[in-house]
Amino acid sequence: MSIPVYDWIRFHAEGQPGKLAAVDVESGRRLTYAQFNDRVTRLARGLSEKFGIAKGDRVAVLAPNSTDQMEVQFAAQKLGFIYLDWRLAVPELEYISRDGTPALLVFHASMRDPALQIAERAGIPATLEMTDGGESAYEQLIARSQPEQLPSPSLTHDDPWSIIYTSGTTGRPKGALLTHGQMFYNDLHCALHMALSPPSVSLTFLPMFHVGGLCVYLAPTVHFGGTNYVMRGFDAAVALRLLADQSTGITHGFAVPTNLIMIEQLPGFAEADFSHLVSVGIGGAAPSPTLLATYNKKGMNLQHAWGMTETATLGTVLSPDKATEKIGAAGRPVLHTQIRIVDTGGNVCGPGAVGELQIKGPTVTPGYWNKPDANAASFVDGGWFRTGDAAVCDADGYYTIVDRWKDMYISGGENVYPAEIENVLYQINTVAECAVIGIPHDKWGEVGRAFIVLKAGAETTAEAVQAHCRSQLARYKVPTEVRFIVELPHNATGKVTKHALPKT
Ligand code: ADP
Repeated sequence: MSIPVYDWIRFHAEGQPGKLAAVDVESGRRLTYAQFNDRVTRLARGLSEKFGIAKGDRVAVLAPNSTDQMEVQFAAQKLGFIYLDWRLAVPELEYISRDGTPALLVFHASMRDPALQIAERAGIPATLEMTDGGESAYEQLIARSQPEQLPSPSLTHDDPWSIIYTSGTTGRPKGALLTHGQMFYNDLHCALHMALSPPSVSLTFLPMFHVGGLCVYLAPTVHFGGTNYVMRGFDAAVALRLLADQSTGITHGFAVPTNLIMIEQLPGFAEADFSHLVSVGIGGAAPSPTLLATYNKKGMNLQHAWGMTETATLGTVLSPDKATEKIGAAGRPVLHTQIRIVDTGGNVCGPGAVGELQIKGPTVTPGYWNKPDANAASFVDGGWFRTGDAAVCDADGYYTIVDRWKDMYISGGENVYPAEIENVLYQINTVAECAVIGIPHDKWGEVGRAFIVLKAGAETTAEAVQAHCRSQLARYKVPTEVRFIVELPHNATGKVTKHALPKT
């Protein structure tokens, strides 16, 4: 039986109208559940009446994070359209618009030029501008629409709610379908494994066009009737201030490692008290054990998790009581989900063997939008999703992500996983951030090149770095080259884009 979709914000607007639903950190706007529901209801009605948007249509959003963006996301829950959100370079956006064929593009005034360019080039029939609550077509649409809800479309958990394009750290972006059901189960996992609940107050600085912003913890916080603080984007100083300020009551946040590396380097970090935070998730890329230990020492309740767009985030989570004993591991599978490790020959591996992590369960995408070939290649053996991540399970059932298969290189016939070398580089206290890639080599086939960003004012040499690596790693893993650079390339989520690092 298909489960019908329930209108969460209407429920909370009726049961707790005065409760704070959302705070837009940049503009200072605050919305109670009654106000949030009123705006979203009017917006859904306006989108239907003015633009003819209906169930199954795509509505794209090009904007920095804001509570307005939340409104569009939740108008999709009321009206049944598919929310399509992205923020990349213009050629990629043009590619995505042709792929996703939205009926409307909602954009923030600060992105007017690229938005109008893309709309024209990709033939998007209509656009709608928003400006953080200021005079705009978006505000007019809300103000002029009736507050009565339109009849609900017949939506079920199997219907797509969003199409999220994978962040493109690997090749052309693919639009993963996220159904209402996937989101529902992910919300349950946030409750079970991260203690998210009605009194929770979540801070979102990861982009809402990515599962890192949307699924942990913005949407589940609305589901449970909690409060969302929405930052426009990541700003280390603002994030540190909000996380450490007990008066905001923030209990939850989710970060990629680069965010926490930047926060750790701020002068205010040493005095900051994080003990009131219930859970801060970290994932999206491998956090080094050094970084995890630094935050564990501060008593932050950091929870290492693994997940991906295609799994509506959480796939594995490390419980707080194992943070030290299992440091570096991404935890155990979340409830309702099965995980297995499969070797290159397609055999399921036992504990200790490195293989591909495959996952099955209700948070896994039904497939990519418009990509029959990718769908055929991504699912095996009756629904196991191939993640492309190399991982290993220990005897207690805890999974460690070794690296992406794609990032592994082969030196003198030996497999080298850059993440292992990066973890060793992070032990050097002058290293702020680093990335290792394989580069071609006449004798060994490939060797490692390390890119290092030093902490402000710190100094070291390539020789000292290599000497440290030699003391910790087998010879063939020691990077042959070490380059010091000012900044690593990151995508909009804050992940290092290794393909942008020079191989020559
Ligand atoms: P993209 O592949 O474009 O970055 P996603 O943003 O969906 O797409 O990221 C998912 C990927 O991020 C995973 O497949 C994995 O490679 C990486 N990842 C997520 N969590 C972790 C983690 N805890 N440790 C290491 N890598 C992780």
